[in-house]
Amino acid sequence: MQVIRSPKVYDVVVVGSGAGGGIAAKVLTEAGAEVCMLEAGPVWDQARDGKMLGWPYESPRRGAATERPFGEFDAAWGGWELAGEPYTSAPGSQFDWFRARMLGGRTNHWGRISLRWGPDDFRRASLDGLGDDWPITYDDIKPYYDKLDEFVGIFGTNHAAQTGLHNEPDGKFQPPPLPRAYELYFKQAADRLKIACVPSRLSILTRPLNGRAACHYCAQCGRGCTTHSNFQSPTVLLPPAMKTGKLTIVTDAMAREVLSNAEGRATGISYVDTRSGEERTVQGRIVVLAASACESARLLLNSKSARFPNGLANGSGVVGKYLTDSTGASLSGFIPKMVGMPNHNEDGTGGMHLYMPWWLNNVKDKLPFPRGYHIEPGGGRRMPGFGFMGGIDRHPGGSGGGYGKGLKDEYRRLWGATIGFAGRGEMVANKDTYMDIDPNVVDKWGIPVPRFHWKFGDAERLQAKHMMETFTALIEEMGGTVLGRIPGPEQDYGLAAGGRIIHEAGVVRMGNDPNTSALNKYCQAHEVKNLFVADAGPFVSQADKNLTWTIMALAWRTCEYVAEQRNALAI
Ligand SMILES: Cc1cc2nc3c(=O)[nH]c(=O)nc-3n(C[C@H](O)[C@H](O)[C@H](O)COP(=O)(O)OP(=O)(O)OC[C@H]3O[C@@H](n4cnc5c(N)ncnc54)[C@H](O)[C@@H]3O)c2cc1C
Repeated sequence: MQVIRSPKVYDVVVVGSGAGGGIAAKVLTEAGAEVCMLEAGPVWDQARDGKMLGWPYESPRRGAATERPFGEFDAAWGGWELAGEPYTSAPGSQFDWFRARMLGGRTNHWGRISLRWGPDDFRRASLDGLGDDWPITYDDIKPYYDKLDEFVGIFGTNHAAQTGLHNEPDGKFQPPPLPRAYELYFKQAADRLKIACVPSRLSILTRPLNGRAACHYCAQCGRGCTTHSNFQSPTVLLPPAMKTGKLTIVTDAMAREVLSNAEGRATGISYVDTRSGEERTVQGRIVVLAASACESARLLLNSKSARFPNGLANGSGVVGKYLTDSTGASLSGFIPKMVGMPNHNEDGTGGMHLYMPWWLNNVKDKLPFPRGYHIEPGGGRRMPGFGFMGGIDRHPGGSGGGYGKGLKDEYRRLWGATIGFAGRGEMVANKDTYMDIDPNVVDKWGIPVPRFHWKFGDAERLQAKHMMETFTALIEEMGGTVLGRIPGPEQDYGLAAGGRIIHEAGVVRMGNDPNTSALNKYCQAHEVKNLFVADAGPFVSQADKNLTWTIMALAWRTCEYVAEQRNALAI
């Protein structure tokens, strides 16, 4: 095989350009390092490729999903299935692996729900005896959450004192947008049921920041943001890194393995140029993996040598273990009181303006499961997408469809009278849930692919049951009825399959003991001192909150450490 070697030796090679990789590029270049970023996908140019203001009728398919699972206009080149890039699940297991293949990764189209984790989330084992504590505390990561709040921008409110929820720490927020009518309505129900309901925390600007405009409320955040008002790595993190003149971005570059030498140091990355199929290498004094948790674990497991026969940095055997995703279940309801609402101002962002953080105490409230979940409500009269109201005939208040003027009047009457609640909760890592490398399957570049092993426990099922009970109570408290059948035990109470919530984490975990963790408290490989991981791979546990704000805060902390230690590490 002919390999094209780049003669230049960079200070740092970063793999991946999403949430973690974008932070790495910004922090390291601003600290003076020459960085080469490898990205498997092509350039996504928001102005050229984005469809922020497109109407569904501008598409021959009315915007329906094609190969993009969230619709044709969604800013995702990627999905759970990628042509030529398979993965496998062990018999009896199901794990669906979502990957974006584009500059900026999944940050181009994610939900921007940016929840700062609390002190308890880093020490759950001390509190309930399950899993492990992190080797860092909330105080270690707090300054980086603050930096993110201030640099990236986030709206929300400080509500810890008002709600008494000590694990919902304060941050540095821009003012939140006002709640919309349906949000005020479910808040009343939540208040009566004593469920905390507070302004959301989304990384969308409501005030101009660092040359970026405030949101103009087109509510199409999933299509990427042409005014750069919401957070995407290519519009927020990569521009300052490019401005330093120290960032080289190589797109269409699929990393195959981390190269290392006989002394046990990483020396660079071998990758495939996906346009030409050429095998190339790039050299670096330090390597930072931010290819997303399972891809970083895959790279390490595929980087075998005489010195590292189980894969790089895997002397402990933990790489690939402790895989988790958030738990997820949802239910929607029909609310007769919201039928035939007069037209009114529904201005707002593409996400929820109010949400419900975890409000209970497992011990005091005698819950039959550990850990918790938050609730993401959805509803209102946003721009209809493809298939919207396709289920009109199922509405208890509907007349069963029709055509012509009658059907249009029916749509107007019922539009906005449904509400949905989605729970996102904490899964506890278990020994049956992990990934390894499938010995028999390779992708189109000949790179061995991951094989997933997945099992939920009763803890997750009972959490989903509780979600169903809570959502039903909320819908009924609003005077509504549940749409469809409430899933029972035979359907795991609607618990989404592993990977469906797209919060995979934990497969290159950090810890103080090199026998039970791959990375130390700076996300530095115990066995390879110039190798770091800056995605959700290092996570020791999940939380009842989404994880990306923590990926970014941790990556910032890791890369500040890399920058401080650069000279010592690069010897
Ligand atoms: C529809 C959707 C909604 C979401 N909503 C939320 C939300 O509201 N809140 C939240 O906290 N999280 C949310 N998430 C999850 C969030 O997007 C991820 O947690 C986050 O993007 C992970 O960051 P990352 O840098 O690890 O990976 P990514 O953002 O996926 O970036 C990884 C990059 O690495 C590249 N790459 C992969 N393999 C290789 C390789 N071998 N060589 C070179 N490059 C490679 C990929 O192409 C990609 O560009 C959502 C995700 C999706 C898909």
